[in-house]
Amino acid sequence: MNSPLLLTEHGSLTFFTGPMASGKTFELVRHLHIFREQQVPLVCLRPSTDNRTPTVQSRDGLLQDAIAVDPQNLTMLTRYLSEAQVIGIDEVQFFTPTIIQVLEQALRQGKTLLVAGLDADFRGLLFPAAQAIMSLPETIVSRSRAVCAVCHRYNATRTQRLRNGQPVFFDDPLVLIEHSAKETTYEARCLEHHVVLPAQVESLASEVLMERETVAV
Ligand SMILES: [Zn+2]
Repeated sequence: MNSPLLLTEHGSLTFFTGPMASGKTFELVRHLHIFREQQVPLVCLRPSTDNRTPTVQSRDGLLQDAIAVDPQNLTMLTRYLSEAQVIGIDEVQFFTPTIIQVLEQALRQGKTLLVAGLDADFRGLLFPAAQAIMSLPETIVSRSRAVCAVCHRYNATRTQRLRNGQPVFFDDPLVLIEHSAKETTYEARCLEHHVVLPAQVESLASEVLMERETVAV
């Protein structure tokens, strides 16, 4: 059995993923604490995109100091990876998908990699970085669910984006940090209660089409 808590000479890559509020960061921080108690050299990184706090903090309150790195420039990431035996990365979905080249190299060096992040965006489509990480044959995917904000069942697999409490359109900007865009909030929802409105561009196009048809009639 592959356990992310056991150091192996071949290294390991565990991806804690799922929708928001599914305990991804909690798992990451919990694992890092266990390695810290064993006095294993470790580092925890996060993308500078998410500047809410200088630490990685799970919704359950666990804290871990984290170094912010540019998610588009992997040079810094590579440097930090070379300095530690255990590497935690939070909010990995914000990184460029080429991060897998760096992770693969670290695996070859026998590192223990613990990465956490959303699998899918508000539309229910995989983030490129999440897709890339899942595509590595060595990745152990630990996918969690959350409690749906609508039906309160433990079956939420998706992250619902709301603006002023209402679902957004499919062509809403892809990356918006919670509360950084006015009145934008997120909640976990199940497949049945996840709502994305059709793209506005398409709906405009269909309106034009309907007008043309009306004219033609
Ligand atoms: Zn539901």
